[in-house]
Amino acid sequence: MLPLTDTSLRASFVNTSRKELSDLTLPAGFDRLDWDGIDYLGWRDPKLARRAYVVAPGDGDPDGDPVGVLLRQAEATPRRRAQCSWCEDVTLPNPVVFYSARRAGPAGRSGSTVGTLICQDFECSANVRRLPPLAYPGFDREAARLERIATLRLRAAAFADAVLRGA
Ligand SMILES: [Zn+2]
Repeated sequence: MLPLTDTSLRASFVNTSRKELSDLTLPAGFDRLDWDGIDYLGWRDPKLARRAYVVAPGDGDPDGDPVGVLLRQAEATPRRRAQCSWCEDVTLPNPVVFYSARRAGPAGRSGSTVGTLICQDFECSANVRRLPPLAYPGFDREAARLERIATLRLRAAAFADAVLRGA
């Protein structure tokens, strides 16, 4: 995705109050992030328990306008190890948890939320970049990898869009 600055990142948020935005702490190493290696930026707030953020390029286009979403991790954890609905990694390399986001605008103010089951520490971009196993002789692993990256972009953008406009 395209690099963000502190200012453009904060300006991208669609479901935060002024107070929530001023409480936001940037991810560790923000000024050294490998933007080319991620399809969305996600991080847990280092100072506030259960609060996390996702900034995804709009419309699944890596160059699209970023949409920032404040997330809250649900108290309940999935009973069994769950699959992330964004990267759908079948090897379950990391915990997956339920996050919910207040919708943007009046819908959010009246309590409407959008939920999603995703990698706890937002490992999706790393997961989809791993070369998949050879599914059958002649299987094009690199094409499968690119397909997963494209799908992740669409999933992240679809979630941002649901928060912004309603699903
Ligand atoms: Zn994931």
